[in-house]
Amino acid sequence: MAFPMLNRPPLKVLIAAPRGFCAGVDRAIQIVELALERFGAPVFVRHEIVHNRFVVDRLREMGAVFVDELDEVPDDRPVVFSAHGVPKSVPAAAQDRGLTYVDATCPLVSKVHRQAQRLIEEGRHILFIGHNGHPEVIGTFGQVPAGSITLVETVEDVARLDIPETSNLAFLTQTTLSVDDTAMVVEALKARFPNIRAPRSEDICYATSNRQAAVKAIAPECERMLVIGAPNSSNSLRLAEVAQRIGVPARLIERAADIDWDWLGEPETVGITAGASAPELLVREVVDALRQRFDVTEEEADHSPERMIFKLPRELVA
Ligand code: SF4
Repeated sequence: MAFPMLNRPPLKVLIAAPRGFCAGVDRAIQIVELALERFGAPVFVRHEIVHNRFVVDRLREMGAVFVDELDEVPDDRPVVFSAHGVPKSVPAAAQDRGLTYVDATCPLVSKVHRQAQRLIEEGRHILFIGHNGHPEVIGTFGQVPAGSITLVETVEDVARLDIPETSNLAFLTQTTLSVDDTAMVVEALKARFPNIRAPRSEDICYATSNRQAAVKAIAPECERMLVIGAPNSSNSLRLAEVAQRIGVPARLIERAADIDWDWLGEPETVGITAGASAPELLVREVVDALRQRFDVTEEEADHSPERMIFKLPRELVA
């Protein structure tokens, strides 16, 4: 419903930057699109290619079929594995069945997989900082033998670990965690296990940390923060947490229709950001919805552009 122009209160909309699609999500979506071009529809996709309903629905309309498990893929159709990564057993099963498959695992997740394998070859036990049940965690655990990796979610978990201090330990992390929470867990791990091996470089990916820093940069100016992302998107959830910890009430919304106008009230400034799997189109939709009720002045935060691009799999571009 559009409100009469004269009655619209002023509202500054401060848009975080960078926000939205990261290079890994962009690549995963392109992989499904290229697979549809190359093989024709239907192309099967194991799990949501990225955690965004809008993206998944668009690809579904183009001919992608999303399934939970490989068993649901017919022998004569190609299958794409999602950006979050899969346990080793999944491509192995696809190979056994002679399926054509394309792996859309983000190269930054694959890097963590390789690190995990290397640590196990060195005879280490891995403490993995991540969220129980997240597909990326399931994928990484599936790279190494059962029992060689232990999940740690919180500082309290570190205290509860029943592992001798003398064990040959290393830690790795999920790519989409809270930078601040992870730093506390790492500190607790190092305090309890002084000889623990740390990864050579940060596992939390550039997109996750840049988006959290962007929220921190605009939050002090905002009275409310709208985070566009799916409720199962780890990096989107973290963005809402970052704002809330700074004292800015924040809501995770999938689309403009989810805005709770009573909660939003009549702030002077509202911040908007989007998780790494949310398309810019949804940001525009939210700004347009705000324009229906407010006299909006829009401002994008200053930022240095992200230049990360990942190569597409050879089998799709050759
Ligand atoms: S959020 Fe990071 S790890 Fe995940 S797909 Fe994007 S770039 Fe890759």
